[in-house]
Amino acid sequence: MFKKILIANRGEIALRVLRACREMGIGTVAIHSTADANSMHVRLADESLCVGPAPAKGSYLNMPAIISAATVAGVDAIHPGVGFLSENHEFAQMVEEHGFTFIGPSAEHTRIMGDKITAKNAVKALGIPVVPGSDGPISSDEEGLAFAEKIGLPVLIKAAGGGGGKGMQVVRRLEDIPEALSIARSEAKANFGNEQVFMEKYLETPRHIEIQVLADNYGNAIHLGERDCSIQRRHQKVWEEANSPAISPQQRHELGTLVAKAVSAMGYRGVGTFEFLYENGQFYFIETNTRLQVEHPITEMITGVDLVCEQIKVAAGEKLTLTQEDIDFKGHAIECRINAEDPETFIPSPGKITNYHAPGGLHVRVDSHLYNGYTVPPHYDSLVSKLIVYGENRQACLMRLRRALQEYVIGGIQTNLALHQQLANHPDVIAGNYDIHWLEGMLVERQGLKAA
Ligand code: ADP
Repeated sequence: MFKKILIANRGEIALRVLRACREMGIGTVAIHSTADANSMHVRLADESLCVGPAPAKGSYLNMPAIISAATVAGVDAIHPGVGFLSENHEFAQMVEEHGFTFIGPSAEHTRIMGDKITAKNAVKALGIPVVPGSDGPISSDEEGLAFAEKIGLPVLIKAAGGGGGKGMQVVRRLEDIPEALSIARSEAKANFGNEQVFMEKYLETPRHIEIQVLADNYGNAIHLGERDCSIQRRHQKVWEEANSPAISPQQRHELGTLVAKAVSAMGYRGVGTFEFLYENGQFYFIETNTRLQVEHPITEMITGVDLVCEQIKVAAGEKLTLTQEDIDFKGHAIECRINAEDPETFIPSPGKITNYHAPGGLHVRVDSHLYNGYTVPPHYDSLVSKLIVYGENRQACLMRLRRALQEYVIGGIQTNLALHQQLANHPDVIAGNYDIHWLEGMLVERQGLKAA
């Protein structure tokens, strides 16, 4: 087992990894930017090193600086967390070339699955159903028009290297294809440094259902069920549930088994998530995330498996000790992503926390780096906390969630806590009746009611 791990991340996810390391008796090295010198992950780590200035480009995305920090600190492995360099195959390769273990899949798997086009082709070859779409990049307007006619409107133009819900264009009329292709290409280039775009059938009312997998170096792979992440704004997840209110145990078993088999056939190692859209009883693969997910705690709540600990063990070359039969899905869990943002405009709201009180009690988990007097810097993602609640069934979970939200105080900055309260009390959410567009519709309605 590793003796010391460098955590190449910040915020709540750096803390999550740090906690797993400490429980496993592994030393921790935090890296940070100048803006994060007082961050909780720095305060709690055994050692810390500043790797650059506030903008992520110079610090959390600065590969040579992170490798130098790992060398200076004498670590065995690097955990990339989520976001930043966690799905960067060049970084994964650089880490391995310098003699450290990258806590994640091989650089090759990160590369193949990091590109939505190659990922779709790879999983399709293993029998997984994918969203109908182009097998390769769309390189001309003519090709785009012909393809849209073939699969039928509406279509979605997506960036091959896309992430974070960015770089997608819905097209409902053929004449809009050339302009949409051009916008998508320039957005893709600006955001992801890869201008390749492809086309998919745009699904009108799907749910987002994803399967969590765990695999070792020896071909053993299991699934840990699904998460329903349909409540989204601008293609970004806001509220997640496990299990999905829309999936039967039979469907879970069938899709989970299919994905676990594909993972084993691929020789994939580590944790991973296969994302699907689910509409009219059919699942359609959209992409794989070759890392831990922000919403992994809800799976931990209903299975009792510590995903970060398992991820570290398989990265260290250990064999999976868990079998599929060991995975039991018990009760229900919901995660609310708490963002530092204006509740009406959703504009980020950084600043000093003047009053902080986190909820507690049975089955309530708060993954957050906030503390009284901490200043949320303006340079990074606005996610400041994840409230995760478990209940013996969905109704009990919702009751407990409402109670926990009432207790939560975050003073000094604006947050979306009120939105979560609204969600937890909304008849559609209570009925489990929502798709990926539901939240945006609800927000438009809310705006209309306020104006009237
Ligand atoms: P990203 O990597 O940017 O997160 P994804 O491919 O995972 O992109 O898609 C993010 C979200 O965008 C999905 O959860 C879904 O809400 C929406 N989406 C993606 N593909 C489609 C599609 N073909 N039809 C409708 N919505 C889609």
